[in-house]
Amino acid sequence: MREFAGKSVCKGIAIGKIKYFTTKENTVVKRKVQDTDAEIERYEAAKQKAIEELENLYEKAVVKVGEDNAAIFNVHAMMLEDDDFNDSVANIITTQQTNAEYAVASTGDNFSEIFANMDDDYFKARSADVKDIAERVIRVLQGVTDSRELGDEPVILVAEDLSPSETVQMDKDKLLSFVTRLGSANSHTAILARTMAIPALVGVEFDGDYTGHMCIVDGYEGRMIIDPKEEVLEKYRVKKEADDTNKALLAELKGKENITASGKKINLYANIGNPGDLGAVLNNDAGGIGLFRSEFLYLESKDYPTEEEQFAAYKKVVEAMGGKKVIIRTLDIGADKQVDYFHLDKEENPALGYRAIRICLTRPEIFKTQLRALFRASAYGNLSIMYPMIISVDEVLKIKEISKAVREELKAEGFPIGEVEEGIMIETPAAAIMSDELAKHVDFFSIGTNDLTQYTLAIDRQNAKLEPFYDAHHPALLKLIEMVVENSHKAGIWTGICGELGADTELTETFVKMGIDELSVAPGAILPVRKAIRDIR
Ligand code: PEP
Ligand code: MG
Repeated sequence: MREFAGKSVCKGIAIGKIKYFTTKENTVVKRKVQDTDAEIERYEAAKQKAIEELENLYEKAVVKVGEDNAAIFNVHAMMLEDDDFNDSVANIITTQQTNAEYAVASTGDNFSEIFANMDDDYFKARSADVKDIAERVIRVLQGVTDSRELGDEPVILVAEDLSPSETVQMDKDKLLSFVTRLGSANSHTAILARTMAIPALVGVEFDGDYTGHMCIVDGYEGRMIIDPKEEVLEKYRVKKEADDTNKALLAELKGKENITASGKKINLYANIGNPGDLGAVLNNDAGGIGLFRSEFLYLESKDYPTEEEQFAAYKKVVEAMGGKKVIIRTLDIGADKQVDYFHLDKEENPALGYRAIRICLTRPEIFKTQLRALFRASAYGNLSIMYPMIISVDEVLKIKEISKAVREELKAEGFPIGEVEEGIMIETPAAAIMSDELAKHVDFFSIGTNDLTQYTLAIDRQNAKLEPFYDAHHPALLKLIEMVVENSHKAGIWTGICGELGADTELTETFVKMGIDELSVAPGAILPVRKAIRDIR
């Protein structure tokens, strides 16, 4: 039995087998070969196997995400049949008398660079695809299976680190828990774990690949126990049962109001990343959606999601919520949420860099496509739009100009548009300090405490080493929140909190006393926060 400590980012108990996930790029060594014909045959066989893998993935994906989204696997299979790609591999094997792995890696690098340097955005985006297909063939040649595919049984996923885009691509039904060596409590991967309501730990110094070993993840105590003794396993089976019972007790709060003993009502909404989270939202009885992080649609895609694709996703969410409020945040790409096809430059300080609204305002074609999809979907339910990373009134005025132009364009084209509230996230100290002025131009505020904390305390939310300095209840932060609520009420608009602090039940009473109007939390936190509100005397 081995035990490792870590920081819990989502409570709960998981018991199951480990799958170790590595994103290490395939290491390719150049080897001299005598029989180049045999090497080309090796390549052909690996290529065929890779194509079969892609066909299987396509079949599975069609069922899960529909034909349009699954099409990328067909595109990859077709790219593997491309004559230029295949001729290049064969040529490198023959002329350099080298192994197939090296020839595929060199071809992948060369083609990927050629695509990346093209002017056309479509071809630029193919750069990442070429890399993907080259890596798939190399994996087959090396006899390594794709560790992103989780297998049939649900597993506890142990990884060095997980990026948000890797996490969203995983099959949520197959994940019992996450454990990572890197990462911090406020990273987007941790937020995803909370959205999925699965126990998760970060900062765990495990010492190897324990794939297939039995494991317990204790998200209450921050522990991972590998190969537990029978008595420990039994103790945790009992704990897990008690956990399930507690969840059942909380379930009794479904259908009840979010009201304090003195009669103050709070709107309690859910945070989601994509339409796949709707089941959890409805199951936990959320009153609406307070934050739909639309950038996850971009992270799950291999290319810019089209207006039609986005429209379908937003329409699905507002329709499923049947008239309840759905606040969709415009894309917040950048910092830790990187997407190859955006071709963002490497930055010294990405959290302080080119991200979110800054991208939208300088690349209006991307912004307008998203706004068109949002306003079109607004005709099908109760949709609000929220803009991230605002620092000035000037930005808000520019956004309003673009938004107005988009609405007029749609009206001229005959599209119906609903009543849409437009609000901003207060997640920079500048926005909090200017909230009296900003309140005059928008319909609501939603406080993003994850970023507001990192910028106020000057603590990188991704850096696990800084956890000891990260005081989520820092008085500076609480003062800013109070000020924002006050300023919004003076201007006659409402304020919510959609950062992770909104789910901190130690602060629920403080927020309610400050006059907060709405809290938006991970679906699994709705019922515990409802309980905390109802317990306020
Ligand atoms: C926040 O910053 O609090 C927030 C809700 O946005 P995100 O976590 O996606 O940056
Ligand atoms: Mg934020």
